[in-house]
Order: sequence, then structure tokens, then C-alpha cells
Amino acid sequence: MKLPSYRLGRLWGIDVFVHCTFLIILLYYGIPEWTEAKNAGLSNRDAFHSVANLITLICGIFCCVVLHEYGHALTARRFGVGTVNITLYPIGGVALLKNIPEKPMHELIIAVMGPAVNLLIILILLAVYGVAHFINLNQPQNAALTQSMMVWGGFFRNIFWANVAMIVFNLIPAFPMDGGRVLRALLAMKYDRVRATDFAAFVAKCLAVCMGVYGFMSHRDFLPIIALFVWMGATQEAAFVRYQASRKYHEPELE
Ligand SMILES: [Zn+2]
Repeated sequence: MKLPSYRLGRLWGIDVFVHCTFLIILLYYGIPEWTEAKNAGLSNRDAFHSVANLITLICGIFCCVVLHEYGHALTARRFGVGTVNITLYPIGGVALLKNIPEKPMHELIIAVMGPAVNLLIILILLAVYGVAHFINLNQPQNAALTQSMMVWGGFFRNIFWANVAMIVFNLIPAFPMDGGRVLRALLAMKYDRVRATDFAAFVAKCLAVCMGVYGFMSHRDFLPIIALFVWMGATQEAAFVRYQASRKYHEPELE
């Protein structure tokens, strides 16, 4: 059974979808937030406010995920590779490219441009924070600025750390993270693509096993879920590259 995705909109000629399982993340964080707020004796209105703040934060983080995916998709376009669509899943986003770029160097640049967008967001946030802090120091009587820094400070601090986490997460050299693609691209500069993918997929699966075992032993429930996601991503990638290579080999040339 294929679960549905819903179209959010279209930007730069690429459709952005959200997978129905994305709702899980909203409920996973929203329900405990509501329960906690009610246990703390907050009114329905205030509890609703605190859930709405949390959902705004999740949506803000996922806007960064969408921009990250556009970093891949628009770079791929420059190298002549189209994007089928961008889909948001509870665990992150995926820019589904029509094919893997022929040149390993192009794949490497496409993979790096996603985290590069997160780095850009971090630098912009730091610059805005620096300017606001500077104005605040020089105009302590500016009540509107102090107030908005108090209201938005926490939100943007979380967005900042979410972007740091996205970079760190994607440094892991395992499919389907960007680090896995960088590893494959580096290996493909020396070996053929199928061999390079198999090796990168093997590294990803070893990491998935370590992550899963550690998650079970340390009762960090989300780690086995990520491990499963990594394992499936690696298997899928290896199968896709083998299929592509066999098609290239067996398909008769069109005259
Ligand atoms: Zn990425």
C-alpha cells in the first residue's frame, strides 16, 4: 500500500510534497506538549498557544529542510539533472533527482550544496543576531526591539541549532544522508559506480547496525528508527544503481 503525499506548492518549477506520515511528527510532539501544559495548570487557551508555538517551530525547521533540498535540486539543474519533486517525511526531506549525475565531481557538489544552504542560514542568523544585539546595546530604551528579541530569540535559537544538527547529521558518511553521496562520489573517482555504491552502501549498513544496537542498549528509541531508515536507504541506493547499470548495458542503442 502506497501512502499518499499532499502537494504544498511549486517553487522554481519543482513541486514540494508533504508525506502523510509527517502528521506523526506533529502528534508526537504536540500531544505531550498539550498534556504537559495542562498538567502545569494552564488554561485551554494557553495550552493551545504553547502547542501552536511548537508547531510553528517544527514548520520553521522544515522550511530550512525544504531550502536544503532546493540547494541540491537547483545545483543538480545547473549540471543538467532534473528533479522529480521534493517530499517532506517525518525524518527529513528528499529531493528526488531524475538520475545520478554522470560525473562524480558533479554528484559531490550537488551533495555538498544541501548542507551549504544550512551553513548560509546559520551565517544569516548570526549576522541578524549580531546587528540586533548591537542596536540593543546602543539603544537600551528601544522597547520594541527588546520585546521582539525576547519573543523571537528562543525561536531563532532553536532554528539555529536545528541547522547545526542538519549539517552534523549529513556529515555521517552513510546513505541516504549527503555524506553517503559524498563518499560514493569520492570512490567513483577511482572505481566504477556500482562498486563505489556497493562499498558506500556497506559502510552505511555497518553504521546502521552500530546505531541500532547502541539505540536498543541505551534505550534511545529514535536511534533504531533512524538505523532502519539508513539501512533501507542504502539497500535502495545499491539496487537502483545496479538496475541503472544493467539497463545501460542491456538496452539496445536507438539509431
Ligand atoms: Zn541533503
